Amino acid sequence: MTQEVRVRFAPSPTGHLHIGGARSALFNYLFARNRNGKFIVRIEDTDQARNVETATEKLLDSLKWLGIEWDESVDIGGPHAPYQSMERLDIYKKYIDELIENGKAYYCYMSEEELEAEREEQRSRGLTPKYSGRDRNLTKEQRDAYEKEGRKPVVRFLVPEYQSVVVDDIVRGKVTFDTDGIGDFVIARKDGIPTYNFAVVIDDYLMQISHVIRGEEHLSNAPRQVLLFEAFGWETPTFAHASLILNEDHKKMSKRDESIIQFVEQYRDLGYLPEAIVNFISLLGWSPGGEEEILSMDQLIEQFSLERVIKAPAVFDTKKLAWMNNQYMKEASVDKAVDVALPHLIKAGRLPVDMDGMERQWAQALIALHQEKMSYGAEIVELTELFFMDEIDYNEEAKEVLAEEQVPEVLTSFKEIVEGLATFSSEEIKKAMKDVQKATGHKGKKLFMPIRVAVTGQTHGPDLPQAITLIGKETVASRIDKLLK
Ligand code: GLU
Repeated sequence: MTQEVRVRFAPSPTGHLHIGGARSALFNYLFARNRNGKFIVRIEDTDQARNVETATEKLLDSLKWLGIEWDESVDIGGPHAPYQSMERLDIYKKYIDELIENGKAYYCYMSEEELEAEREEQRSRGLTPKYSGRDRNLTKEQRDAYEKEGRKPVVRFLVPEYQSVVVDDIVRGKVTFDTDGIGDFVIARKDGIPTYNFAVVIDDYLMQISHVIRGEEHLSNAPRQVLLFEAFGWETPTFAHASLILNEDHKKMSKRDESIIQFVEQYRDLGYLPEAIVNFISLLGWSPGGEEEILSMDQLIEQFSLERVIKAPAVFDTKKLAWMNNQYMKEASVDKAVDVALPHLIKAGRLPVDMDGMERQWAQALIALHQEKMSYGAEIVELTELFFMDEIDYNEEAKEVLAEEQVPEVLTSFKEIVEGLATFSSEEIKKAMKDVQKATGHKGKKLFMPIRVAVTGQTHGPDLPQAITLIGKETVASRIDKLLK
């Protein structure tokens, strides 16, 4: 029988969901669903100094927004609860004690100053600093003496010397590390709380995790974790370390990098569509079998495999992200587009919070008119500027159009006809333009360009009759008036 697939996303609650984290979560989720397995979200919060209140809630919210669902976690429980490390301290303690009893871990009393002095000395000899193992073989008397001094020990794992550790990785093959480069690392701090590298192993084992799928930044942790699995005599899970995500300059993305919006919540707030974000993230280090890149969650689940996760770094292409969002925006319902765009018009002060029915209808029509063009909701503010301007500042290109000789005639005729209209609809405007054509003999570009430019200030834009309808009769007439004067 093949082993049941059980995978986990194990964020530390240190802030919002980062693009890299979202990618790990997504790959785990897709893999679990593809293989009819289980997807677990576990909160790794033993590094308490880094914990941020409400981060867990925010992480879960962002995952939900992306449409990533879990089978076991802090909110819904599950057969291996609790799913938060700090609630599992008793469990870890048992295993820490077991290693100490078996001589595979030991108490270390060195102070921070002593450790630093040791590192400094190694550096001065041109060596890479590494814990020396000084407290490996303390006698009972030595320990008592330290305790008397009031020192509190950490627990270190005794790393076997001159061995190689193999991390079997689906993406990278067998990656071999030398234990020489790994000092005896801390598995429990002075307060008894385990470090990430320890807790993660205990949890992955007890939660029967079959595959550890995460970002390349954790590859260097993997040998430590493998050593721990081996020390307990447990089978190691299969690893898959997805590639780094680079920015457009092909540099490793840092959290301070402003060239990229890095948190899922920010994308939500900007009015991106979650389906587009999921699709885009899925392609950061994974490639589908076929040519088609626009893939729904269901298609991703169907096509996902760890064998197609690539080793080469993924480059975060913001233009592609905008393009992809636009693909989804075009296909979205008008309601959806309104959902993501309207709050931005309100926030920009263009529309009141408490719109009446007419205003709401107008806003919906305005957004619908720009849906094709919009890649994400917040863009609506810039795209619709002309609909909210008192006065148009005509640029050079516009002035050139308006300087053509037929313009006064066309505009005068259009204004007259428009002012006479009883209703103001797209159909009526279309008809009005035909009437101008009849009255003036001008047609095509010579006819509609001056009208477009006069009324919108732009040489291109959305469907003209509709735009004119939304700008409204009064504004249209007054803009033309001003030009004619
Ligand atoms: N808690 C780790 C992090 O947030 C997860 C590491 C892992 O997946 O093993 O980066």
